[in-house]
Amino acid sequence: MHLNIACIPGDGIGPEIVAEAKKVLNAVCDRYGHTIEYKDVLMGGCSIDAYGVPLTQETIDICKSKDAVLMGSIGGDAKTSPWYQLEPSKRPEAGLLAIRKALGLYANLRPAYLFDELAGSCPLAMPKGEKTRHFDLIIVRELTGGLYFGERWTKEVDGVLTAQDTLRYNENEIRRVAKTAFEIARKRRHKVTSVDKANVLDSSRLWRKVVHEVAKDYPDVEVNDMLVDNTAMQLVRYPEQFDVVLTENMFGDILSDEAAMITGSIGMLPSASLKEGSFGLYEPSHGSAPDIAGKGIANPIATILSAAMMLRFSFGLTKEADAVENAVKKTLADGYRSIDLMPKDETKSQFTQQNCSEMGDRICERI
Ligand code: NAD
Repeated sequence: MHLNIACIPGDGIGPEIVAEAKKVLNAVCDRYGHTIEYKDVLMGGCSIDAYGVPLTQETIDICKSKDAVLMGSIGGDAKTSPWYQLEPSKRPEAGLLAIRKALGLYANLRPAYLFDELAGSCPLAMPKGEKTRHFDLIIVRELTGGLYFGERWTKEVDGVLTAQDTLRYNENEIRRVAKTAFEIARKRRHKVTSVDKANVLDSSRLWRKVVHEVAKDYPDVEVNDMLVDNTAMQLVRYPEQFDVVLTENMFGDILSDEAAMITGSIGMLPSASLKEGSFGLYEPSHGSAPDIAGKGIANPIATILSAAMMLRFSFGLTKEADAVENAVKKTLADGYRSIDLMPKDETKSQFTQQNCSEMGDRICERI
């Protein structure tokens, strides 16, 4: 197969971690007889420096013309970077919202799982009577509707300064993301938990109705509803109960950060943003880490696992995706750690500290 992808290295550690993901993709393509071609494009702060805007039409057009997009991360230090003197709509992060919208990416996938090798980093108490934790869930968040895209205003009403945001969904927006969640559940443990606030919100009652209509086409997938406040609690109580968690934009934004934190290793987690068909944008869950940019010490694993998601979801290359994920696990099991994963106590002598590029090399060797 020929893989034709656009790359957005971005800002901060972005170029360093994307270079390692490319190295791993090249290794897996060599191993399994595929060819791959990359086209690098600018977005975020580097695009502001070059063109005065965080996202150009040229970047959008190139991304649209490829099979998938691999991204590093964008943005800088809000206190010191001149990008943050600009008005919010011209800052690096505006590029991110705009590209998701321009590419029609409506389903954001954020896996949260505990690596056995890093189980000690999990901040949750052990369930009663058990010695280990094993959770592996994926949050499917609607990305282009809801509160973040509804009509909003701030004005004086009856002499009092007042602000309003609008949470709006139509049934088609709910149906398409629900289908994505059920399809993913079919490839996993066949369970969807749909999260809403149907005891209060009309938009949530519509959400629940449409999700159950979609569920009829997936009789092999178990579906249950959970209120968002309860879900926040259940995630820290017993995350093992979840397989696929389906939810709207703002609930998903909050719950996916919570889910990432309970793994204890947010720097390890990938993400994907999908539309119908096979096109997707893949990026790590973390940001551009300006505090360590240019030092060559960033952990490239979240980006490498994002590349694995790309192989799985955009190209249907399951064996190849498994090979990358297993190589990451083996690298950790063999005791290699980037600096952020090194223990601070006396156990650190059991591990071999690696810089960003060395970590990429160790993973390539294991493919
Ligand atoms: P961050 O995730 O960049 O950094 C938080 C902390 O984690 C820092 O100490 C950083 O050094 C560390 N860290 C993050 N990724 C790491 C990695 N791969 N290896 C080792 N350490 C890592 O979050 P932040 O500091 O809140 O944000 C920095 C910038 O990133 C901001 O401009 C923010 O807007 C942007 N951001 C971008 C995205 C994106 O591109 N999708 C997402 C989140 C934040």
